[in-house]
Amino acid sequence: MDKEINYIEIEKKWQQKWAESNSHTPDFDNLDDKFYCLTMFSYPSGDKLHVGHWYNYGPVDTYARYKKMNGSNVFQPQGFDSFGLPAENYAIKHGVPPLESTKANIGKMKEQLQRIGAMFDWSNELNTSDQKYYRWTQWLFLELYKNGLAYQKTAPVNWCPSCATVLANEQVKDGFCDRCATQVTKRDLKQWFFKITDYAEELLVGLHDLDWPSKTKHMQKNWIGKSIGAEITFSIKDNDSNISVFTTRPDTIYGVTYMVLAPEHPLVEKLTTSGNSVNINNYIEISRKKSEIERSAIDKEKTGAFTGSYAINPFNGEERQIWISGYVLISYGSGAIMAVPSGDQRDFDFAQKFNLPITEVTSKDGTSEGGNECYSGYGVCLNSDSLNGLKSEDAITVVCEELKNRSIGGAKVQFKLHDWLISRQRYWGTPIPIVHCDNCGSVPVPENDLPIKLPTDIEFSSTYGDDISPLATSQTFLNTECPNCKKPAKRDPDTMDTFVCSSWYYLRYPNANISNQPFDKSLLSWLPVDLYVGGAEHATMHLLYARFITKALRDFGHLNFGEPFKKLIHQGTITKDGTKMSKSKGNTVSPDKFIDQYGSDTFRAYLMFMGPFEEGGDWNDKGITGISRFLSRVVKNCAKIDNKIEIDTSITKLINKTIKTVGEDLNQLKFNTAISKLMELSNVLAKIDHLNEFAVKSLILLLAPITPHLSEELWSRYFDKDVSVFDQKWPKFNSSLIIDDEFEIAVQVNGKLRGNFNIKLGTSKDKVLEMARNLDNVGKFLLNGILVKEIYIPNKIVNLVVK
Ligand SMILES: [Zn+2]
Ligand SMILES: [Zn+2]
Repeated sequence: MDKEINYIEIEKKWQQKWAESNSHTPDFDNLDDKFYCLTMFSYPSGDKLHVGHWYNYGPVDTYARYKKMNGSNVFQPQGFDSFGLPAENYAIKHGVPPLESTKANIGKMKEQLQRIGAMFDWSNELNTSDQKYYRWTQWLFLELYKNGLAYQKTAPVNWCPSCATVLANEQVKDGFCDRCATQVTKRDLKQWFFKITDYAEELLVGLHDLDWPSKTKHMQKNWIGKSIGAEITFSIKDNDSNISVFTTRPDTIYGVTYMVLAPEHPLVEKLTTSGNSVNINNYIEISRKKSEIERSAIDKEKTGAFTGSYAINPFNGEERQIWISGYVLISYGSGAIMAVPSGDQRDFDFAQKFNLPITEVTSKDGTSEGGNECYSGYGVCLNSDSLNGLKSEDAITVVCEELKNRSIGGAKVQFKLHDWLISRQRYWGTPIPIVHCDNCGSVPVPENDLPIKLPTDIEFSSTYGDDISPLATSQTFLNTECPNCKKPAKRDPDTMDTFVCSSWYYLRYPNANISNQPFDKSLLSWLPVDLYVGGAEHATMHLLYARFITKALRDFGHLNFGEPFKKLIHQGTITKDGTKMSKSKGNTVSPDKFIDQYGSDTFRAYLMFMGPFEEGGDWNDKGITGISRFLSRVVKNCAKIDNKIEIDTSITKLINKTIKTVGEDLNQLKFNTAISKLMELSNVLAKIDHLNEFAVKSLILLLAPITPHLSEELWSRYFDKDVSVFDQKWPKFNSSLIIDDEFEIAVQVNGKLRGNFNIKLGTSKDKVLEMARNLDNVGKFLLNGILVKEIYIPNKIVNLVVK
């Protein structure tokens, strides 16, 4: 008789057994078949794990368990990305220090993560806000600094004048403070940058060989934004300044009819003549309040103001008006453009609005098309003096050469990618290990003095006044001596972007407890990560930063590889009634309620069954009962084990086929189709009174990666009390038993498909040809022509050649 399964009980029991036997720590000395399987770590919030967490961790664990049963030495670590704004905001609101709330949240979250029943190696857990970890984030900063990849520069921060505080980008909503709805302004501050742009080309080229989703590679490619073109220097009439521009179309130089600077361009003040200063200043004031996205929107009506100055075209000496406009961004290129309205729609719209001239310089074949519309494609030059008649591509070469010869520019490659601004005026982050000394300037903290610990004597407040950074309010933290000249000096009061913490964490996991190195150099053969799984929203931030840091550490001599994640997959999204789950919409599903009722095996199996893993699916409260019934049927099927009987050959064949196809599906992370094949098998087995060992064993083994606790329980009940089901080998199928015994034959007449029919295995060639000739749709061709040839590709195609 089958005993009822109490899911809650067996889950606790097996989780405890796994922990006691250390079964989720791999053998780090054994590199054969090592498999480093990583899911993106998460932020420990006070809330419970949501469906999205489960959907990231559950299915990936199923894959990891499948790999283990197939002989892989699997390492699946877990940790917490625990610095960041939420803990700090919580401190401001409730007075609980971030250290305390984070610790409590990690405790709660770990308990819930354990319910998933995943093969997480908790002996290598890491936590980015732990001193033992952030000491090495500081080391990373110093490595970048020593190698010229960390530098300071003045850059604007979001500033709320009413709250008297710096705001993170996510605290600014449509230009207003998220807390008090005051209009946010910009304030200039000296901040730290990492020079990711030094790696722009390599980051771009390296994408090619990565086994990553093509959409993600495409997003990184666009983000890096390589363009090939030229730099051109324009001199200015009655002024000793120059304007330097980048253009991808130097061949249109004769079509330049005005110039535009970004409102923030340093030359604006110098170029503004007295009669135009009121207009210009008003315009600058307005544009400061707009975001870059607003300003660069293509369909936005063009605005601008004339400075009163003129640039001189170096090719024909023409004097052209210099304007400022929000559609030119200071953050891209040099913050200035040469405007060619006949070849660029935005320039065209601007010229029309402000009555600026338009000169046609490119057409498809070099003859004028009237110049009433903008043509941005390549073609042949016209109205371009010595370039007339040249193809655009050739004219580009000619212009670039001339620019170089005259020392006023030349060919240039430009990237959209900016350096990575890592300074944060926040408390809950990694302190920047730099001391500012009046004598010596910025001095790195000696490595022996790390970690620079976060002070605890901070008053958490929503305003820090002119100090700007919370750390600056702690005198014990701020005041120190210069490591160089030993005179009194001040610590850098900023902390690092949390993306710095997560840019290198995967390197440390194989020995997360090592104290004298950032990562265990003797375990580098475990890297890079074999499979990385996480949300697609990280495409251009975390995933790009991790690639950059890996390449930098390789160049500093710490690593022998340059890409962190060999294969990447993004899990899909679980929706509710077709819409994204969100707290504000009130349509979230709490996993706990369902786990308490059905158990975590049922819950994770249902998530996997809902749809293709990379697409996700729609949650349905009733859907989980279907999975629950399926698992009950499996339990009943196992109880029918009886070794004295033999089962029907057709059942043996079905089991062999299921072994083959479920293995293929799991190997490609096609969990939903694997589960439906197991359902089909279980349904067939349910109709039989007695099952042999092969049937029951196969069912349990195939199900083990999907429902680990239940499978352990059934395995110990019917097979081996002492050895885990995950120490069993994945079942093998007998290929002679899964040859299909029915085939579909396609029938062609003169190469065109005219019909098809099924044959049994072993049908003779003569018989097949006879059946083909007898098809209704084929007979008429034979009546009207002469059959000259019959071709038969066994079990596939008949082709009749008729003349
Ligand atoms: Zn405010
Ligand atoms: Zn000094």
